[in-house]
Amino acid sequence: QEDPTQSVHVSKTQLLDDLLPSGFDEKSCLSRYQSVLYRRGTPRRASPYLISKLRSYEALHKKCGPHTDSYNKTVKDLKSGIYSSTTSDCKYIVWISFSGLGNRILTLASAFLYALLTDRVLLVDRGVDIPDLFCEPFPEVSWLLPLDFPLTNKFNGFNQKSQESYGNLVKSDSLGNLTGSLLQPYVYLHLVHDYDDQDKLFFCDQDQTSLQKTPWLIMKTDNYFIPSLFLIPSFEQELHSLFPDKEIVFHLLGHYLFHPTNSVWGLISRYHQAYLSRADVKVGIQIRVFDTGPCPFKHVLDQILSCTIKEDILPQINQHEPVVGPTGPQKSIAVLMTSLNWGYFEEVRNLYWEHPTVTGEVISVYQPSHEEYQQTEKQNHNRKAWAEMYLLSLTDKLVTSSWSTFGYVAQGLGGLKPWILYKPENQTAPDPPCRQAMSIEPCFHAPPFYDCKLRKGVDTGNVVPHVKHCEDMSWGLKLV
Ligand code: GDP
Repeated sequence: QEDPTQSVHVSKTQLLDDLLPSGFDEKSCLSRYQSVLYRRGTPRRASPYLISKLRSYEALHKKCGPHTDSYNKTVKDLKSGIYSSTTSDCKYIVWISFSGLGNRILTLASAFLYALLTDRVLLVDRGVDIPDLFCEPFPEVSWLLPLDFPLTNKFNGFNQKSQESYGNLVKSDSLGNLTGSLLQPYVYLHLVHDYDDQDKLFFCDQDQTSLQKTPWLIMKTDNYFIPSLFLIPSFEQELHSLFPDKEIVFHLLGHYLFHPTNSVWGLISRYHQAYLSRADVKVGIQIRVFDTGPCPFKHVLDQILSCTIKEDILPQINQHEPVVGPTGPQKSIAVLMTSLNWGYFEEVRNLYWEHPTVTGEVISVYQPSHEEYQQTEKQNHNRKAWAEMYLLSLTDKLVTSSWSTFGYVAQGLGGLKPWILYKPENQTAPDPPCRQAMSIEPCFHAPPFYDCKLRKGVDTGNVVPHVKHCEDMSWGLKLV
């Protein structure tokens, strides 16, 4: 295996097989160039069409991005509250920083794909920490929304009831006739899990037509809504050309957009070199327990152990012998655990310390942090969360928890089909404890169930073969 510390320079042709643009200063974002040395192989290949689409997006971003003439003009119209489709040929989608970090990574990728499909420019609300976590993905012009953007002070207040939301505009019939265009200077898209039937019309062709001419769309969401974009007929052909392989949509968008900043890259690379790089096999176990109560829970621990042993991810222990001689060359397995709590890690580590494995394999168990509870507003907390998702993505085999976007990010970036631990019910370990995912894609937790043409409910998990219900949430949708 290559020693990542030895190489600092990766040739430009190696920029993930042209997925990434050239022209960045290497030192300002080392992960962009070095991450390939930490992975087994490069990310899976993007279609030539996606690559050319990304290059044209970058050109559009350069033309319309913050502080360009076009941007200044469009913002001026927004300030004066007039609708104008003529002064500038740039249209925008503004992503509001909202929810936990795993959620934010998935929604940012969703917003970007929506921008690609609708020829909009993506601008990113920096929240408390976006620039501290991610390098700029587009060359030359920033993706960060300027601090003096006139609507920023409204972002926190936007919610399901906001008058400017698409759903409420539909209700108040501001569309005039429904086939016409919305002549609003901006529209707020409420795609948070509590959205209602009118908000969900966002996923209908006709409504996409109404939104087409609006210069500013402001989006708040905590969901990976890409699976439902695949169900919008007018996007279908384009999506198929961009992603002939539907299972790697987030994988590719993620590798294109999300490069850890140097401070986060330090956390990742040091940890990897100190604890993981020398192991023959790296196993990731991501534990996210949504129940409250004193941790660790016995049933969760039982579930982790029965899953990893049954699926041959970790070897069994020998209860009877104090020492088991190596049966061949000793293989080493490094287990990277992540959890808000310390308890599961201690139990697993002790188990493999107190007993030998039946195979003679040597098991080392590590957990980088135990932050105890979610602290979304704290900078160092989110740096660690990002580093841990990334470290999990560098493993060879991954076990994740149901419903967790933290795990989805890890599996997606890693290109791994994880074993998903079923959600425990009534304080008992589920049987079977886990199953391997159908695909590496994240799950959309709150999809619409509506047939826009027939104007009635429909099972959207049953419309096309590549959009199915998720393994860990029966009503969710994922690409396979
Ligand atoms: P989800 O709630 O599991 O879908 O994931 P999110 O990332 O959206 O929100 C959970 C947040 O809790 C994370 O962003 C972290 O702030 C924190 N968190 C949860 N699990 C872990 C963990 O294993 N390690 C660390 N460092 N933070 C965690």
